[in-house]
Amino acid sequence: MSMLTASCLCGAVQLRLPDRFDYVGHCHCSECRKFTGAAFSSVGGLDAALVTTVRGAEAIALYDKSAETRLAFCRHCGASLYSLKRSSNKLNLRLGILDTPPSQTPTFHIFVGSKAPWHEICDTLPRFTTRPGEE
Ligand SMILES: [Zn+2]
Ligand SMILES: [Zn+2]
Repeated sequence: MSMLTASCLCGAVQLRLPDRFDYVGHCHCSECRKFTGAAFSSVGGLDAALVTTVRGAEAIALYDKSAETRLAFCRHCGASLYSLKRSSNKLNLRLGILDTPPSQTPTFHIFVGSKAPWHEICDTLPRFTTRPGEE
């Protein structure tokens, strides 16, 4: 299987993962906005066990956003790396940290109900107020 590499801004953290996400999409929730500093967060989800930390494990800082979700970032440069879901052990990688382009592209927008009012979505991908099935 072809592999992808990802790294933080300063390069201390490098990750390796298969080029095969379970899903790829854009999240517009206010918490992603705060964490990434961007209008929305583009993520690819896969089992955390498939992601290898090539270097910089000691540079990865963790913040427990909630009982379910833990956020990872580089303690040196502050780059947002991924979120981890406790119940499913899913890792949502921030696509912006990829060094190699993934074969998949985003297929949906979630939490559009809380998107930044100054951001306009300009594509025709399916949009969900919160998550699919929770409308
Ligand atoms: Zn860094
Ligand atoms: Zn979000």
